[in-house]
Amino acid sequence: MTMTTTRETPLPLADPAVFQAIQNEQQRQTDGLELIASENYASAAVLQAAGTVFTNKYAEGYPGRRYYGGCEYADVVENLARDRACELFGADHANVQPHAGSQANMAAYMSILQPGDTFLAMDLAHGGHLTHGMRLNFSGKLYNAVHYGVRQDDHRIDFDQVAALAKEHRPKLIVAGASAYPREIDHPQFAQIAADVGAKLMVDMAHYAGLVAGGVHNNPVEVADFVTTTTHKTLRGPRSGMVLCKQELAKDVDKTVFPGLQGGPLMHIIAAKAICFHEALQPSFKDYAKQIIANAQTLAETLTAGGLTLSSGGTDNHLLLCDVTTLNGVTGKIAEAALDRAGLTVNKNMIPYDPRKPMDPSGIRLGTAALTTRGMKQDEMKRVGDWILTILKSPEDTSLAEKVKAEIANFAQDYPVPGV
Ligand SMILES: *Cc1c(COP(=O)(O)O)cnc(C)c1O
Repeated sequence: MTMTTTRETPLPLADPAVFQAIQNEQQRQTDGLELIASENYASAAVLQAAGTVFTNKYAEGYPGRRYYGGCEYADVVENLARDRACELFGADHANVQPHAGSQANMAAYMSILQPGDTFLAMDLAHGGHLTHGMRLNFSGKLYNAVHYGVRQDDHRIDFDQVAALAKEHRPKLIVAGASAYPREIDHPQFAQIAADVGAKLMVDMAHYAGLVAGGVHNNPVEVADFVTTTTHKTLRGPRSGMVLCKQELAKDVDKTVFPGLQGGPLMHIIAAKAICFHEALQPSFKDYAKQIIANAQTLAETLTAGGLTLSSGGTDNHLLLCDVTTLNGVTGKIAEAALDRAGLTVNKNMIPYDPRKPMDPSGIRLGTAALTTRGMKQDEMKRVGDWILTILKSPEDTSLAEKVKAEIANFAQDYPVPGV
Protein backbone atom coordinates (compact mmCIF):
# COMPACT_ATOMS: atom_id res chain seq x y z
CA MET A 1 0.00 0.00 0.00
CA THR A 2 1.38 3.40 -0.87
CA MET A 3 0.73 6.25 1.51
CA THR A 4 0.05 9.74 0.34
CA THR A 5 1.98 12.12 2.52
CA THR A 6 1.71 15.87 2.81
CA ARG A 7 4.02 18.38 4.42
CA GLU A 8 2.01 17.96 7.62
CA THR A 9 2.51 14.21 7.82
CA PRO A 10 4.35 13.31 11.03
CA LEU A 11 7.70 11.54 10.75
CA PRO A 12 6.54 7.98 11.61
CA LEU A 13 4.26 8.02 8.57
CA ALA A 14 6.25 10.36 6.35
CA ASP A 15 9.40 8.23 6.45
CA PRO A 16 9.08 4.98 8.42
CA ALA A 17 12.63 3.85 7.57
CA VAL A 18 14.27 6.94 9.03
CA PHE A 19 11.80 7.02 11.91
CA GLN A 20 12.65 3.44 12.83
CA ALA A 21 16.38 4.18 12.81
CA ILE A 22 15.80 7.14 15.13
CA GLN A 23 13.70 4.98 17.44
CA ASN A 24 16.38 2.32 17.48
CA GLU A 25 19.09 4.88 18.22
CA GLN A 26 17.01 6.25 21.07
CA GLN A 27 16.63 2.74 22.48
CA ARG A 28 20.37 2.11 22.09
CA GLN A 29 21.19 5.33 23.94
CA THR A 30 18.73 4.42 26.70
CA ASP A 31 19.63 0.75 27.21
CA GLY A 32 23.40 1.05 26.96
CA LEU A 33 26.04 2.84 28.97
CA GLU A 34 27.67 5.65 27.03
CA LEU A 35 31.34 5.91 27.91
CA ILE A 36 32.66 7.63 24.80
CA ALA A 37 34.57 10.57 26.25
CA SER A 38 33.45 13.03 23.57
CA GLU A 39 29.73 12.27 23.93
CA ASN A 40 26.97 13.47 26.21
CA TYR A 41 23.18 13.74 26.38
CA ALA A 42 21.80 17.16 25.45
CA SER A 43 18.82 18.40 27.45
CA ALA A 44 15.24 18.19 26.23
CA ALA A 45 15.26 21.96 25.68
CA VAL A 46 18.42 21.80 23.56
CA LEU A 47 16.99 18.93 21.49
CA GLN A 48 13.76 20.82 21.03
CA ALA A 49 15.46 24.02 19.84
CA ALA A 50 17.57 22.00 17.37
CA GLY A 51 14.38 20.72 15.76
CA THR A 52 12.66 24.06 15.16
CA VAL A 53 11.77 26.29 12.19
CA PHE A 54 15.03 28.22 12.62
CA THR A 55 16.43 25.52 10.33
CA ASN A 56 14.53 27.31 7.55
CA LYS A 57 16.25 30.65 8.03
CA TYR A 58 19.14 32.19 6.13
CA ALA A 59 21.02 34.71 8.27
CA GLU A 60 24.38 35.32 6.56
CA GLY A 61 26.24 38.06 8.37
CA TYR A 62 26.02 38.94 12.06
CA PRO A 63 23.29 40.39 14.31
CA GLY A 64 22.32 43.84 13.03
CA ARG A 65 24.37 43.33 9.82
CA ARG A 66 22.64 40.57 7.83
CA TYR A 67 22.51 39.89 4.12
CA TYR A 68 18.90 38.68 4.33
CA GLY A 69 15.63 40.14 5.51
CA GLY A 70 13.52 38.66 8.29
CA CYS A 71 16.45 38.19 10.66
CA GLU A 72 15.00 39.95 13.71
CA TYR A 73 14.48 36.73 15.68
CA ALA A 74 17.67 35.17 14.40
CA ASP A 75 19.40 38.25 15.84
CA VAL A 76 17.72 37.66 19.19
CA VAL A 77 19.01 34.08 19.53
CA GLU A 78 22.48 34.82 18.19
CA ASN A 79 22.88 37.77 20.58
CA LEU A 80 21.72 35.61 23.48
CA ALA A 81 24.20 32.91 22.50
CA ARG A 82 27.10 35.38 22.14
CA ASP A 83 26.38 37.25 25.37
CA ARG A 84 25.91 34.10 27.40
CA ALA A 85 29.08 32.53 25.99
CA CYS A 86 31.07 35.64 26.97
CA GLU A 87 29.52 35.64 30.44
CA LEU A 88 30.10 31.92 30.95
CA PHE A 89 33.79 31.98 30.05
CA GLY A 90 34.66 35.62 30.78
CA ALA A 91 35.52 36.24 27.12
CA ASP A 92 35.71 39.58 25.26
CA HIS A 93 34.15 38.16 22.12
CA ALA A 94 32.36 35.00 20.98
CA ASN A 95 31.68 33.80 17.45
CA VAL A 96 28.96 31.16 17.77
CA GLN A 97 28.61 30.41 14.05
CA PRO A 98 31.19 27.65 13.44
CA HIS A 99 29.29 24.49 12.50
CA ALA A 100 31.53 22.24 14.60
CA GLY A 101 34.80 22.11 16.48
CA SER A 102 36.85 21.55 13.35
CA GLN A 103 35.39 24.69 11.75
CA ALA A 104 36.12 26.66 14.91
CA ASN A 105 39.76 25.59 14.72
CA MET A 106 39.92 26.39 11.03
CA ALA A 107 38.57 29.87 11.79
CA ALA A 108 41.16 30.54 14.48
CA TYR A 109 44.02 29.30 12.27
CA MET A 110 42.91 31.27 9.23
CA SER A 111 42.53 34.43 11.29
CA ILE A 112 46.29 34.69 11.75
CA LEU A 113 48.13 32.03 9.71
CA GLN A 114 49.03 32.01 6.03
CA PRO A 115 49.48 28.74 4.14
CA GLY A 116 52.94 27.39 4.92
CA ASP A 117 53.15 29.06 8.35
CA THR A 118 54.33 27.03 11.30
CA PHE A 119 52.25 26.14 14.32
CA LEU A 120 53.05 23.92 17.27
CA ALA A 121 50.43 21.51 18.65
CA MET A 122 50.03 18.18 20.42
CA ASP A 123 50.78 15.01 18.51
CA LEU A 124 47.69 12.99 17.55
CA ALA A 125 49.39 9.84 18.80
CA HIS A 126 49.82 11.47 22.22
CA GLY A 127 46.24 12.74 22.53
CA GLY A 128 46.00 15.65 20.07
CA HIS A 129 43.24 16.09 17.49
CA LEU A 130 43.10 15.65 13.70
CA THR A 131 42.80 19.42 13.33
CA HIS A 132 46.07 19.91 15.19
CA GLY A 133 48.10 19.24 12.06
CA MET A 134 47.45 15.62 11.13
CA ARG A 135 48.93 14.86 7.70
CA LEU A 136 45.59 14.12 5.97
CA ASN A 137 43.67 16.96 7.65
CA PHE A 138 43.43 20.51 6.22
CA SER A 139 45.57 21.65 9.15
CA GLY A 140 48.42 19.34 8.15
CA LYS A 141 48.13 20.13 4.45
CA LEU A 142 47.89 23.92 4.69
CA TYR A 143 50.37 24.58 7.45
CA ASN A 144 53.70 23.37 8.72
CA ALA A 145 52.64 21.59 11.90
CA VAL A 146 55.28 20.73 14.49
CA HIS A 147 54.27 18.42 17.33
CA TYR A 148 55.03 18.08 21.00
CA GLY A 149 53.97 15.15 23.13
CA VAL A 150 53.94 13.66 26.58
CA ARG A 151 56.89 12.26 28.52
CA GLN A 152 57.45 8.54 28.24
CA ASP A 153 57.72 7.92 31.97
CA ASP A 154 54.61 9.69 33.30
CA HIS A 155 52.56 10.54 30.19
CA ARG A 156 52.35 14.23 31.20
CA ILE A 157 52.85 17.05 28.69
CA ASP A 158 56.58 17.56 28.23
CA PHE A 159 56.89 21.32 28.74
CA ASP A 160 60.67 21.18 28.25
CA GLN A 161 59.99 19.81 24.78
CA VAL A 162 57.27 22.41 24.11
CA ALA A 163 59.69 25.21 25.03
CA ALA A 164 62.55 23.72 23.02
CA LEU A 165 60.41 23.21 19.90
CA ALA A 166 59.00 26.73 20.23
CA LYS A 167 62.54 28.19 20.35
CA GLU A 168 63.71 26.05 17.45
CA HIS A 169 60.76 26.49 15.07
CA ARG A 170 59.48 29.96 16.07
CA PRO A 171 55.81 29.07 15.40
CA LYS A 172 53.31 31.89 14.83
CA LEU A 173 50.80 29.96 16.89
CA ILE A 174 50.98 27.45 19.73
CA VAL A 175 47.99 25.19 20.25
CA ALA A 176 47.14 23.63 23.60
CA GLY A 177 44.26 21.24 24.20
CA ALA A 178 43.70 17.58 23.42
CA SER A 179 41.21 14.81 22.78
CA ALA A 180 42.73 12.05 24.85
CA TYR A 181 44.72 13.64 27.67
CA PRO A 182 43.47 12.67 31.14
CA ARG A 183 45.12 15.52 33.06
CA GLU A 184 44.35 19.18 33.70
CA ILE A 185 46.28 21.28 31.21
CA ASP A 186 48.50 24.05 32.58
CA HIS A 187 47.38 26.86 30.28
CA PRO A 188 49.47 29.58 31.97
CA GLN A 189 52.62 27.55 31.24
CA PHE A 190 51.68 27.41 27.55
CA ALA A 191 51.02 31.18 27.64
CA GLN A 192 54.50 31.80 29.07
CA ILE A 193 56.17 29.73 26.35
CA ALA A 194 54.12 31.50 23.66
CA ALA A 195 55.07 34.90 25.08
CA ASP A 196 58.77 33.92 25.17
CA VAL A 197 58.81 33.25 21.41
CA GLY A 198 56.28 35.88 20.34
CA ALA A 199 53.67 33.32 19.30
CA LYS A 200 49.92 33.60 19.76
CA LEU A 201 48.25 30.99 21.96
CA MET A 202 45.16 29.07 20.95
CA VAL A 203 43.55 26.69 23.43
CA ASP A 204 41.23 24.05 22.00
CA MET A 205 39.12 23.12 25.03
CA ALA A 206 36.69 20.99 22.99
CA HIS A 207 36.80 18.13 25.47
CA TYR A 208 36.89 19.94 28.78
CA ALA A 209 34.85 23.13 28.10
CA GLY A 210 32.19 21.87 30.50
CA LEU A 211 34.78 21.51 33.24
CA VAL A 212 35.96 25.08 32.61
CA ALA A 213 32.35 26.31 32.60
CA GLY A 214 31.77 24.48 35.89
CA GLY A 215 34.83 26.05 37.46
CA VAL A 216 36.73 22.78 38.04
CA HIS A 217 39.43 23.29 35.37
CA ASN A 218 41.55 26.45 34.97
CA ASN A 219 40.04 28.82 32.42
CA PRO A 220 42.13 29.23 29.24
CA VAL A 221 40.24 32.40 28.28
CA GLU A 222 42.30 34.23 30.93
CA VAL A 223 45.59 33.53 29.13
CA ALA A 224 44.92 32.61 25.50
CA ASP A 225 44.42 34.76 22.41
CA PHE A 226 41.88 32.31 21.00
CA VAL A 227 39.88 29.60 22.72
CA THR A 228 38.01 27.18 20.49
CA THR A 229 35.56 24.53 21.56
CA THR A 230 32.86 22.12 20.60
CA THR A 231 29.56 22.58 22.40
CA HIS A 232 28.46 18.93 22.50
CA LYS A 233 31.08 17.21 24.67
CA THR A 234 31.33 18.04 28.39
CA LEU A 235 29.53 21.34 27.69
CA ARG A 236 26.43 19.21 26.90
CA GLY A 237 24.87 21.33 24.16
CA PRO A 238 24.04 20.69 20.50
CA ARG A 239 26.65 19.25 18.10
CA SER A 240 28.52 22.43 17.14
CA GLY A 241 31.48 24.74 17.75
CA MET A 242 32.52 28.21 18.86
CA VAL A 243 35.51 30.59 18.92
CA LEU A 244 36.20 32.89 21.85
CA CYS A 245 38.88 35.57 21.45
CA LYS A 246 40.38 38.78 22.70
CA GLN A 247 38.71 41.97 21.48
CA GLU A 248 41.58 42.88 19.13
CA LEU A 249 41.10 39.61 17.22
CA ALA A 250 37.29 39.79 17.07
CA LYS A 251 37.04 41.39 13.64
CA ASP A 252 39.50 38.95 12.08
CA VAL A 253 37.73 35.94 13.58
CA ASP A 254 34.30 37.14 12.46
CA LYS A 255 35.53 37.85 8.93
CA THR A 256 37.20 34.45 8.77
CA VAL A 257 34.07 32.54 9.80
CA PHE A 258 31.82 34.55 7.48
CA PRO A 259 32.41 35.15 4.60
CA GLY A 260 35.75 33.32 4.89
CA LEU A 261 34.65 29.79 5.65
CA GLN A 262 30.89 29.47 5.88
CA GLY A 263 27.70 30.72 4.30
CA GLY A 264 24.51 30.71 6.34
CA PRO A 265 24.84 29.90 10.03
CA LEU A 266 22.74 27.05 11.46
CA MET A 267 20.27 29.24 13.35
CA HIS A 268 18.43 26.30 14.94
CA ILE A 269 21.75 25.09 16.37
CA ILE A 270 22.69 28.60 17.49
CA ALA A 271 19.37 28.75 19.35
CA ALA A 272 20.27 25.41 20.96
CA LYS A 273 23.73 26.76 21.85
CA ALA A 274 22.13 29.77 23.57
CA ILE A 275 20.14 27.30 25.71
CA CYS A 276 23.24 25.22 26.42
CA PHE A 277 25.11 28.30 27.72
CA HIS A 278 22.11 29.29 29.85
CA GLU A 279 22.10 25.80 31.38
CA ALA A 280 25.84 25.93 32.00
CA LEU A 281 25.44 29.27 33.81
CA GLN A 282 23.16 27.65 36.43
CA PRO A 283 24.68 26.74 39.82
CA SER A 284 23.72 23.09 39.23
CA PHE A 285 26.20 22.91 36.36
CA LYS A 286 29.04 23.37 38.86
CA ASP A 287 27.79 20.28 40.72
CA TYR A 288 27.59 18.44 37.42
CA ALA A 289 31.20 19.31 36.54
CA LYS A 290 32.46 18.24 39.98
CA GLN A 291 30.56 14.98 39.74
CA ILE A 292 32.03 14.20 36.30
CA ILE A 293 35.52 14.28 37.81
CA ALA A 294 34.57 12.38 40.97
CA ASN A 295 33.02 9.72 38.75
CA ALA A 296 36.09 9.50 36.50
CA GLN A 297 38.32 9.10 39.55
CA THR A 298 36.17 6.32 41.00
CA LEU A 299 36.10 4.54 37.65
CA ALA A 300 39.89 4.94 37.45
CA GLU A 301 40.37 3.38 40.90
CA THR A 302 38.04 0.48 40.10
CA LEU A 303 39.77 -0.33 36.81
CA THR A 304 43.26 0.01 38.26
CA ALA A 305 42.36 -2.32 41.15
CA GLY A 306 41.13 -4.79 38.51
CA GLY A 307 44.44 -4.90 36.66
CA LEU A 308 44.22 -2.23 33.96
CA THR A 309 46.98 0.33 33.55
CA LEU A 310 45.96 3.95 33.09
CA SER A 311 47.95 6.40 31.02
CA SER A 312 49.50 8.91 33.47
CA GLY A 313 48.27 6.69 36.33
CA GLY A 314 44.84 8.28 36.70
CA THR A 315 42.76 11.30 35.75
CA ASP A 316 42.05 14.92 36.69
CA ASN A 317 39.22 15.37 34.23
CA HIS A 318 36.37 13.45 32.59
CA LEU A 319 38.43 10.86 30.74
CA LEU A 320 40.62 7.81 31.22
CA LEU A 321 43.00 6.25 28.79
CA CYS A 322 43.37 2.55 29.67
CA ASP A 323 46.02 0.18 28.44
CA VAL A 324 44.03 -3.06 28.04
CA THR A 325 46.98 -5.15 26.86
CA THR A 326 47.88 -5.72 30.51
CA LEU A 327 45.05 -8.26 30.48
CA ASN A 328 46.03 -11.40 28.63
CA GLY A 329 45.52 -11.18 24.86
CA VAL A 330 43.22 -8.12 24.90
CA THR A 331 43.77 -5.22 22.48
CA GLY A 332 41.89 -1.95 21.98
CA LYS A 333 39.97 -3.37 19.04
CA ILE A 334 38.96 -6.54 20.88
CA ALA A 335 38.00 -4.51 23.96
CA GLU A 336 35.84 -2.06 21.99
CA ALA A 337 33.94 -4.87 20.24
CA ALA A 338 33.51 -6.98 23.40
CA LEU A 339 32.27 -4.04 25.48
CA ASP A 340 29.92 -3.00 22.67
CA ARG A 341 28.31 -6.46 22.70
CA ALA A 342 27.59 -5.95 26.38
CA GLY A 343 26.04 -2.48 25.96
CA LEU A 344 29.11 -0.51 27.05
CA THR A 345 30.09 2.00 24.35
CA VAL A 346 33.75 3.04 24.31
CA ASN A 347 36.35 3.73 21.63
CA LYS A 348 39.67 2.09 20.98
CA ASN A 349 42.53 4.57 21.28
CA MET A 350 46.28 4.79 20.92
CA ILE A 351 48.12 5.27 24.18
CA PRO A 352 51.29 7.42 24.15
CA TYR A 353 54.32 5.50 22.79
CA ASP A 354 51.92 2.79 21.63
CA PRO A 355 53.78 -0.07 19.95
CA ARG A 356 50.53 -1.10 18.18
CA LYS A 357 48.75 0.39 15.14
CA PRO A 358 45.86 2.94 15.15
CA MET A 359 43.29 0.40 13.87
CA ASP A 360 44.15 -2.00 16.69
CA PRO A 361 45.86 0.04 19.40
CA SER A 362 46.68 -0.90 22.99
CA GLY A 363 44.07 1.21 24.64
CA ILE A 364 40.51 2.32 25.09
CA ARG A 365 39.31 5.80 26.01
CA LEU A 366 36.51 6.18 28.55
CA GLY A 367 34.65 9.27 29.72
CA THR A 368 32.09 9.95 32.43
CA ALA A 369 30.31 13.07 31.13
CA ALA A 370 27.35 11.20 29.64
CA LEU A 371 26.71 8.80 32.52
CA THR A 372 26.98 11.71 34.97
CA THR A 373 24.22 13.49 33.02
CA ARG A 374 22.03 10.43 33.62
CA GLY A 375 22.48 10.96 37.35
CA MET A 376 25.07 8.28 38.08
CA LYS A 377 27.52 8.80 40.95
CA GLN A 378 30.49 6.99 42.50
CA ASP A 379 28.56 3.84 43.51
CA GLU A 380 27.29 3.42 39.98
CA MET A 381 30.83 3.94 38.62
CA LYS A 382 32.02 0.99 40.71
CA ARG A 383 29.38 -1.20 39.09
CA VAL A 384 30.24 0.09 35.64
CA GLY A 385 33.94 -0.57 36.30
CA ASP A 386 33.16 -4.11 37.46
CA TRP A 387 31.16 -4.79 34.30
CA ILE A 388 34.02 -3.51 32.16
CA LEU A 389 36.49 -5.76 33.97
CA THR A 390 34.18 -8.78 33.73
CA ILE A 391 33.91 -8.36 29.97
CA LEU A 392 37.59 -7.62 29.38
CA LYS A 393 38.61 -10.72 31.31
CA SER A 394 36.51 -12.90 28.96
CA PRO A 395 36.20 -10.86 25.77
CA GLU A 396 35.22 -13.85 23.58
CA ASP A 397 32.44 -15.07 25.86
CA THR A 398 29.32 -13.98 23.96
CA SER A 399 26.84 -15.52 26.40
CA LEU A 400 28.49 -13.58 29.21
CA ALA A 401 28.19 -10.43 27.07
CA GLU A 402 24.49 -11.11 26.60
CA LYS A 403 23.96 -11.62 30.31
CA VAL A 404 25.80 -8.37 31.15
CA LYS A 405 23.91 -6.52 28.44
CA ALA A 406 20.59 -7.54 29.98
CA GLU A 407 21.79 -6.53 33.46
CA ILE A 408 22.91 -3.17 32.12
CA ALA A 409 19.64 -2.50 30.26
CA ASN A 410 17.78 -3.19 33.48
CA PHE A 411 20.12 -1.03 35.57
CA ALA A 412 20.05 1.83 33.02
CA GLN A 413 16.26 2.15 33.30
CA ASP A 414 16.70 3.98 36.59
CA TYR A 415 18.79 6.71 34.91
CA PRO A 416 16.64 8.45 32.33
CA VAL A 417 18.02 9.98 29.15
CA PRO A 418 16.90 13.61 28.75
CA GLY A 419 14.21 14.13 26.12
CA VAL A 420 13.29 10.45 25.85
C1 LIG B 1 36.20 16.88 19.15
C2 LIG B 1 37.36 17.79 18.95
C3 LIG B 1 37.40 18.70 17.90
C4 LIG B 1 36.46 18.69 16.70
O1 LIG B 1 35.18 18.66 16.87
P1 LIG B 1 34.14 18.26 15.70
O2 LIG B 1 32.92 18.94 16.22
O3 LIG B 1 34.09 16.78 15.70
O4 LIG B 1 34.62 18.84 14.43
C5 LIG B 1 38.45 19.59 17.83
N1 LIG B 1 39.41 19.58 18.76
C6 LIG B 1 39.44 18.70 19.77
C7 LIG B 1 40.56 18.73 20.74
C8 LIG B 1 38.42 17.76 19.89
O5 LIG B 1 38.47 16.86 20.88
